[in-house]
Amino acid sequence: MIYLDYSATTPVAPEVLESFNKVSRNYLGNPNSIHRLGLDSKELMHQATNQIAKLLKVKAEELIFTSGATEANNLAIKGVCAHYQNRGKHIITTELEHSSVSEVMNYLKTQGYEISYLNVLPDGTIDLKHLKQLLRLDTILVSIVYVNSETGIKQPIEDVGHILKAYPKVLFHVDGTQAVGKIKVDLNNIDLFSFSAHKIYGLPGIGCLYKQKKIELTNIIHGGQSQSKYRAGTPPLPLIVSFAKALRLSLVNLDDRYTHVLKLNQTIKKALEKYPEVVINSSSEAIPHILNISILNVLPETFMHALEKHHIYLSTQTACSKFDEPSKTLLAIYKDKKRALSSIRISLSHKTTSEEIDFFLKCFDLEYHALNFMGDLSV
Ligand code: PMP
Repeated sequence: MIYLDYSATTPVAPEVLESFNKVSRNYLGNPNSIHRLGLDSKELMHQATNQIAKLLKVKAEELIFTSGATEANNLAIKGVCAHYQNRGKHIITTELEHSSVSEVMNYLKTQGYEISYLNVLPDGTIDLKHLKQLLRLDTILVSIVYVNSETGIKQPIEDVGHILKAYPKVLFHVDGTQAVGKIKVDLNNIDLFSFSAHKIYGLPGIGCLYKQKKIELTNIIHGGQSQSKYRAGTPPLPLIVSFAKALRLSLVNLDDRYTHVLKLNQTIKKALEKYPEVVINSSSEAIPHILNISILNVLPETFMHALEKHHIYLSTQTACSKFDEPSKTLLAIYKDKKRALSSIRISLSHKTTSEEIDFFLKCFDLEYHALNFMGDLSV
């Protein structure tokens, strides 16, 4: 089996699973119980939270555990909007967001918020001049994805942070789900930051929102005492501890891993040059872990299933997008429906080997030549 869908989800690292099992076996108490078992669990939860805080160079009380990045994004955006609505109802975002941000924006429109979308440059990055033009007195939030999940294109998050320093009342949320564990992230000028364990060889079911201490949020999940006052529910201790482990492991040898993935990415790109119907959608600003291509005039799911016969697994668009619609991300960047209807995402890991890529390219060639090009898909 050749797995080339690491951006959809990653296989759980054995050490992470081991840590989940160990905590599940040895820590019975609810971290909020006041007896000995509860106190032991609470102590372990604090240790794991401190470890994550240290790795991200933030404070432990600034971390809110959630069920994943979808909930973290919802909490950040809805929580800020509800709390700061008296300051204004204007939000700035992009058309490159994951559905867990873009659908929240669509919902907020129905609640009387005004959403402005940043212009996108030909390389898929946002237009910083446009950001300066869009900022207004009633702007309360800017929300931008760090690395786009379909194309891997990385946004100039540090530059946005610098620009927003001059606007202390505008909060800056970053969806860092596809960035953590792949590139260095610096949370210095970021107010709210979402990420998820299952993208970094952790278990599904846990994510995290970093929220700068001075910022307030209105809860979206209400209930009793928990790990954070901003999110109710019994803290899932085995998930929290294993998340800390996954994060620590994901940051080991980041540079070497990046170089390895870059080489694989370059090998694939070079090999794909010979196919006239293949266009590369991941621009020079993309991280190498995600390589998005279009095979023009081919239904992407047809090609995906053809590769599946060889036990090769990759995605069309993302696992969270709607199948038969053109990719909104590609439309926003290239304004080309044909390209946006036929995209395939190859996502790589430091675990991917060059032998796997050689086999993938062999099967790609075989299936490409077996394709029935269908005329213009966009009409
Ligand atoms: N944001 C981005 C950029 C993502 O890629 C994903 C997952 N595909 C999410 C948010 C949602 O993460 P989760 O699956 O943890 O809810």
